[in-house]
Amino acid sequence: MREEAGARATWRRVMGGFRRMALTELGDEQLCPSCGQLWPMDREFFAVTRSGISYECKACIEERRAAHRTDS
Ligand SMILES: [Zn+2]
Repeated sequence: MREEAGARATWRRVMGGFRRMALTELGDEQLCPSCGQLWPMDREFFAVTRSGISYECKACIEERRAAHRTDS
């Protein structure tokens, strides 16, 4: 029995809907608005700053950082 990713997620809206989080069978996950993927709420996938957890996944942040480097 196969299910689509996120099909069993319980979506939660945080901070006026800007941040999309879902509670799945794996635990708390967050939707990255850049790649549209659900990732576990973990330091491995999201950068944690003083103001909290970043809303974009690490991969997307790194990608933009790399693009900036080649831009200049
Ligand atoms: Zn991403």
